[in-house]
Amino acid sequence: MVRTKVRVRFAPSPTGYLHVGGARTAIYNWLFARQHGGKFILRIEDTDISRNVEGAIDTILSSLRWLGLEWDEGPQVGGDYGPYFQSQRTYLYAETARKLLSADRAYRCFCAPKKLEERRQQALREGRPPGYDGRCGDLTQNQIHKLLSREKPFALRFRATSFGDLSFRDLIHGEIAFKKEAVNDFIIVRSDGTPTYNFTVVVDDALMQITHVIRGDDHLSNTPKQIPIYKALGYPRPEFAHIPLILGKDGSRLSKRHGATAVEAFREEGFLPQAMVNYLALLGWSYDDRTTLFSVSELIDKFSLEKVSKNPAIFDLDKLEWMNGVYIREKSDQELAELLLPYIRDIALVDGGGEGREEGEEHLGSATGNETLSDTQTKNILAPRVPEAEIKRTLLKIIPLVRERIKKLSEVQQMADFFFTEDYPLEKDAMQKFLKAREARKILQATLEKLRLAQTFSSEEIEELLRQLPDELGLKAKQIFQTIRAAVTGKTVSPPLFQSLAILGKEKSLNRIAKVLSILEEGAEGP
Ligand code: GLU
Repeated sequence: MVRTKVRVRFAPSPTGYLHVGGARTAIYNWLFARQHGGKFILRIEDTDISRNVEGAIDTILSSLRWLGLEWDEGPQVGGDYGPYFQSQRTYLYAETARKLLSADRAYRCFCAPKKLEERRQQALREGRPPGYDGRCGDLTQNQIHKLLSREKPFALRFRATSFGDLSFRDLIHGEIAFKKEAVNDFIIVRSDGTPTYNFTVVVDDALMQITHVIRGDDHLSNTPKQIPIYKALGYPRPEFAHIPLILGKDGSRLSKRHGATAVEAFREEGFLPQAMVNYLALLGWSYDDRTTLFSVSELIDKFSLEKVSKNPAIFDLDKLEWMNGVYIREKSDQELAELLLPYIRDIALVDGGGEGREEGEEHLGSATGNETLSDTQTKNILAPRVPEAEIKRTLLKIIPLVRERIKKLSEVQQMADFFFTEDYPLEKDAMQKFLKAREARKILQATLEKLRLAQTFSSEEIEELLRQLPDELGLKAKQIFQTIRAAVTGKTVSPPLFQSLAILGKEKSLNRIAKVLSILEEGAEGP
């Protein structure tokens, strides 16, 4: 049967978050649908109630939407082939199972799980294939009636072994042949009445008129079980494309051990959806082995299953970060300000608050030593937040300084916190190497005097004034500027110093230097 309209599906089980591997499968399906003017269907495979995780569906849906993978049919949008939750389709599985049973394509298996296990072990001991031997398939009607009248529990098994040829053509792997032993008469409905994956997936893919099943290599061994079910039911068989696994750099399957794997976690860290889609699309697919940057419309245009690799792909976080940096640099100032705002909101406190501090970290806001702990705590809770409009104004000023320097949005916190709070942390190195150095007081004193002379406080004016210091103090420029940087930003590495001072403004810059100076002087007078 020739089908003209492409229909593909992504079928996650709500057992947790959306894994990047799942996201990549969704991306390939989505690109394929968009390229062919077809439909992208989302189906939730939630029949295994014991594995369902509360909230997982919402997380998966929001991750897919964030990536821009809008579905044409499925949860929240509906469609003509629903319901799109397997848990709401049980009547369809029951009906199909009955059909298979009455056509003798499936049979009742009364073997108790314990017996099955014993026979399996014995077969292994005797060097025979351990799969089900098909014995209940030979029961007579009489025997079946007897067992039923004794209310003996049974499962339904599919007569898979009656189909000889298990080979099929995969769109990525080419011709695939399986040994006959790879498939036994397998269970399609358990004795508790619940249908199994290999059965439901065929019923759904067939009834939803899926034309191409694009899924992970981990399902390759399921395909020879699924194809005979299509045959038995007289359904047209979709094309199959099994995409390679994603591995970590150490060659083992990508897992939490390798770091974040949830799309949601990448989102929180400040990866952009465009970068994620671009990067994930290249995990297993390449256009010409050279081009790495593809807009979504270029991907739709250029993607093809023929160019998907047969071999596993390695997840390379460095490359993803690099790519994210590229997409960050393409954003306009306004766009970037919006994107960075959530990362700054919590650290921008009117008079410092110190929320989210690391233990043992020194902070300028609490370095006076005159407050009691409870004073500080009260201040933390009550510290008023800087209005968003003001944060955005500052963000727009600092974006030219940070844009080239961040690979993830979240990095703005570490890099630019001192623009937004007087309670910025003093890094250990900044303290030890520069502020505690013998010359620090002399440098900061001289800096104060110079900066007081500034009229416009532009970065050019600041630079002109401060560049006089090395000669006047007889010290190296680097030491002087690092000392000023340490005092004003708390860091040894920061955005460019003169521009940072100009953005902070004269009052804040002078206050910070004076404050550090007074702390250093107090320390010097001490015992
Ligand atoms: N629910 C299955 C999974 O999450 C889908 C398998 C398939 O695409 O057939 O792996």
